[in-house]
Amino acid sequence: MEKTREITLRKNGVSIGGEKKLLCAGPCAVESLNQIKEIAAFLKVTETPLLRGGSFKLRTSPQSFQGLGEEALKFLKEVGEEFNLLTVTEVATPEQIKLAYEYVDVLQIGARSSQNPYLLKEAGRQRKPVLLKRGMMMTIEELLWASEYITREGNPNVILCERGIRTFEPSTRNTLDLSAVVILKEKTNLPIMVDPSHAVGHAHYVSKLAKAALVSGADGLMIEIHPTPHTALSDGRQALDFKTYEKLVHELRAETISFTI
Ligand code: PEP
Ligand code: MN
Repeated sequence: MEKTREITLRKNGVSIGGEKKLLCAGPCAVESLNQIKEIAAFLKVTETPLLRGGSFKLRTSPQSFQGLGEEALKFLKEVGEEFNLLTVTEVATPEQIKLAYEYVDVLQIGARSSQNPYLLKEAGRQRKPVLLKRGMMMTIEELLWASEYITREGNPNVILCERGIRTFEPSTRNTLDLSAVVILKEKTNLPIMVDPSHAVGHAHYVSKLAKAALVSGADGLMIEIHPTPHTALSDGRQALDFKTYEKLVHELRAETISFTI
């Protein structure tokens, strides 16, 4: 088994792939400055160093909320600076990579884009860490090939993310493949995060799967949270409310899991 490559996200110590686990949380989409500020303030309370928030949303239906675009990027930068948080947002085109580069710390390539070699190569030509999600129909080997498109272009800082794959099981949104975490730990030295929110699709099941992910060896968690999940403009059903997320973090720390802050 290869030693995991530790990726430093900020000079003052936040990293992934080392001794300590990384927590990332935030809304599916940035909805307003107020919303993202409220969430950022809450992340400080829970010592969660990485704020997620979608700016360009890749929705299945054109009738759904598509994200605030550059305005969302500006909000992420503002709250990142105000609250001393790292930020991550999804990019889906080379133009979005160039734009988001100016505003966020980590660029996310989502499940719908992770088999686009042109996007992956572009992500490899810039210097920010890339959070690469597994496509919903991607094998473990295909995920590794996707990561190689990025690393071959000269950016070694790729974080893999298991977020569930499509199976015949209808009671969850996707099926969280924790065997992928175990296998990837043997096949690559890239750090691996798990996103239980998009995997299971129901807030009720997220905490248990988050714990299982860490036990399986994941280096970090990405969790969707929202102050009022029932009013969220996207993915409200799977978003944890503040109380539930705080409880989860508390329980994880009580299990003596050590987190980077
Ligand atoms: C997300 O994290 O906002 C997202 C859309 O996830 P995925 O690409 O895994 O569906
Ligand atoms: Mn989402």
